[in-house]
Amino acid sequence: MKVARFYAPGDVRLEDMDEPTPGPDEVKIRVRNCSTCGTDVKIFNNGHPNMTPPQVMGHEIAGEVVEVGSDVSGWSIGDGVQVIAAIPDGTCEECRRGRLTVCTNQTSMGYQFPGGFAEYMIVPRAVLAVDGLNRIPDGLSFAEASVAEPFACVLNGQELAGVGDGDDVVVVGAGPIGCLHVRLARARGAKRVFLIDLNRGRLDMSASAVHPDAAICGAEVDTIDEVKKLTDGRGVDVVITAAAAGKTQEDGLQMLARGGRLSAFGGLPKDKPTITVDANLVHYRELTIVGANGSSPDHNKRALAMIASGEVPVNDLITVRLPLDRVHDAIDTVARGAAIKVTIEP
Ligand SMILES: [Zn+2]
Repeated sequence: MKVARFYAPGDVRLEDMDEPTPGPDEVKIRVRNCSTCGTDVKIFNNGHPNMTPPQVMGHEIAGEVVEVGSDVSGWSIGDGVQVIAAIPDGTCEECRRGRLTVCTNQTSMGYQFPGGFAEYMIVPRAVLAVDGLNRIPDGLSFAEASVAEPFACVLNGQELAGVGDGDDVVVVGAGPIGCLHVRLARARGAKRVFLIDLNRGRLDMSASAVHPDAAICGAEVDTIDEVKKLTDGRGVDVVITAAAAGKTQEDGLQMLARGGRLSAFGGLPKDKPTITVDANLVHYRELTIVGANGSSPDHNKRALAMIASGEVPVNDLITVRLPLDRVHDAIDTVARGAAIKVTIEP
């Protein structure tokens, strides 16, 4: 079978490998869609400390069951399935306290386990142990189901930031994650959602899909002024930064209304992880800064259900579909921000 394996920064190879054989406590799937995201670009450029090369990349995985280990029950050949990406151990102190997204022993598909840029893949025991293999609801395509994983992370982020009824929300970063944030904020009852990006082309492309109440180009206007103007000086209830620049977090704090919440959704570069915070602003205005680290198996289940119900449609966000042998084009397209969602169809 064909796979795309990471060897070193800038060195991802298309190779032929033997099809994997599932152990008694594993499930083998034929990967039908594995979508790509900014993390794949980061891995391509820098590798990842949790990944030992060579490794099959890809973590937004949907496919169909082709073989079921003898000790596994509940799955049959032909079942459509979506696979979690971040795998909590389910047993550490944080997991026992119900905080599965910050499991201290978290592993991931495409890092410790071979991922979905392959024709076939093993769903490891660790995934099955935490109920991380999800049945794709009727009527949902494999491509749509593959977006459940990034959408699950978005869901986690907005739950932690408490996005709800009547909120004014700013989303910084008009990539696929930003688009999902705009749609989810609306589904959760936000009053107005404003989308910000530095790249005018990407902003227009995404805005024409998800229709924010305002699309603000950071290269053309002062985004803080603009948000203040749009809200009659009050600011917004929530700012979500889906961008890898500390400046967006610093600016985000200035955009918040009293009682506002800043979601540091996107991570910052390893060599530039600090920002400057006016702690008096946080103090007097009762601001909250929250993080977001991936998603739990339950977030994945609910994300799939919300996509299937039409609450948060994703089909129109999948703008590029490529075969596995064009994985380099896929990563390049994501890196350039030239598409909303790029999916690989092995
Ligand atoms: Zn844990």
